[in-house]
Amino acid sequence: MAGHVTVPEEMDAWVVARPGPIASGPLERVRLPVPRPGPGEVLVEVEACAVCRTDLHLAEGDLPPRRPRTVPGHEVVGRVAARGPDTVRLAAGERVGVAWLRSTCGRCRHCLRGAENLCPYSAYTGWDADGGYARYLTVPEDYAYRLPGDGAAEKLAPLLCAGIIGYRALLRSELPRGGRLGVYGFGASAHLTAQIAIAQGATVHVLTRSAKARELALELGAASAGGAADAPPEPLDAAILFAPAGELVPVALEALDRGGTLAVAGIHLSDVPVLDYRRHLFQERTLRSVTANTRADGRAFLEIAAACPPKVTTVPYPFGAADRALADLAADRVEGAAVLRM
Ligand SMILES: [Zn+2]
Ligand SMILES: [Zn+2]
Repeated sequence: MAGHVTVPEEMDAWVVARPGPIASGPLERVRLPVPRPGPGEVLVEVEACAVCRTDLHLAEGDLPPRRPRTVPGHEVVGRVAARGPDTVRLAAGERVGVAWLRSTCGRCRHCLRGAENLCPYSAYTGWDADGGYARYLTVPEDYAYRLPGDGAAEKLAPLLCAGIIGYRALLRSELPRGGRLGVYGFGASAHLTAQIAIAQGATVHVLTRSAKARELALELGAASAGGAADAPPEPLDAAILFAPAGELVPVALEALDRGGTLAVAGIHLSDVPVLDYRRHLFQERTLRSVTANTRADGRAFLEIAAACPPKVTTVPYPFGAADRALADLAADRVEGAAVLRM
């Protein structure tokens, strides 16, 4: 390990010890050895890690664990503390972001056609490997994103999943230029994506159950903000479902204009009710999912965010309060993005 910084032997971390309802305390605070970067990997000292709804799905067991006692967290901003063998891209001390997509095979038919987000051999930060609810984590350097050295880590962290996945969802929604976009749910990802769409000339209608989130939406430039199951004031060219609520699928499909597309942004969705072909799908409406992102999506989004920075609404938590941050997210008490600060 060729590092310039002194790296301790042990660190504080959180692990998913017993997946289950958040009230049962699935997370446990532990001491772990600081991981050593393998070939092609760097060790990252964490500055901040944003809290994603996927972390909640992992803690609660909606997404079954892929290995025991994994450290969650995949919206990490930090600095390269050490480099493993055969690293060439990143230098010690460089600021990087670590996101959900941790590795892909590079050889399957999906990787070869530029759809590495669909690689069946892909691995994910905080699911297949330890993530950022810790002082340090490792990442293959080819899957880390270079980040600006200045700027508050707390404001950059939510860009790494909420931002990137939201951006892919926006692409998948096929919103025409200057079109009408419906945004269902208004948490961390939605509030960033809505701003990107508005900056690109879209008219955005936000539909969410939280009154505070509706206020934030209007502050950020949404044309209207209504309740989750309300009809928007005009038909939509495209919609993105951010809330993990399958019952909103028919609601959003019905709000689409002819030829419109609904993209479901989440990795987990409650059951979708029976659809009525005429009411929900006929007239060439399209329903599609969004699966992770490619590194190209990530780089494109981070460039857009650097050129025209969105207002990132964050709720900071000290590192020791990761369990409380997840409980607050579960109870809809977080406006914008919860972020753990080291
Ligand atoms: Zn592959
Ligand atoms: Zn995420």
